[in-house]
Amino acid sequence: MKAIPCPFCKSSATPTEASGCEQWAVVCDNGQCAAIGPWEDSEEAAIEKWNRRALGWISVDERLPENDNTLYFHEDSRMKFTSVLACGYSEHDSEKPFVSQVNRLIIYPCGIKQLDANHEPLNEWRWSSCFERVTHWMALPSPSTERAQS
Ligand SMILES: [Zn+2]
Repeated sequence: MKAIPCPFCKSSATPTEASGCEQWAVVCDNGQCAAIGPWEDSEEAAIEKWNRRALGWISVDERLPENDNTLYFHEDSRMKFTSVLACGYSEHDSEKPFVSQVNRLIIYPCGIKQLDANHEPLNEWRWSSCFERVTHWMALPSPSTERAQS
């Protein structure tokens, strides 16, 4: 397997081993771009993670954003969520899709009492905010990449 080009700057990307600790990550070849994939135990795994992230939109029928260490993930005693870019439809317009950063989240029924629209405790994964229906999602660019010098 080969690493596909950087999703942010389109330069080639190369699997790189951290010296002495048998950890691999794919790194963008463009010195001006800080893009780096997740660290993995093998070159193959590092390339797979990089390619999956670089490919972009993922259908919700194929996979949902959870338990994925390439995503922004937060958990505390009240909730857990993953932040992604989602594409879908609002309840007001089922024709025209739009894109927004949203969380896929669980709010635990303990602590502050959180109820859903049917007044049931919320303890299953669901999409937050503005979408009636989400069709695709993708990982947010990492903050280090967004702040890369140009
Ligand atoms: Zn790049």
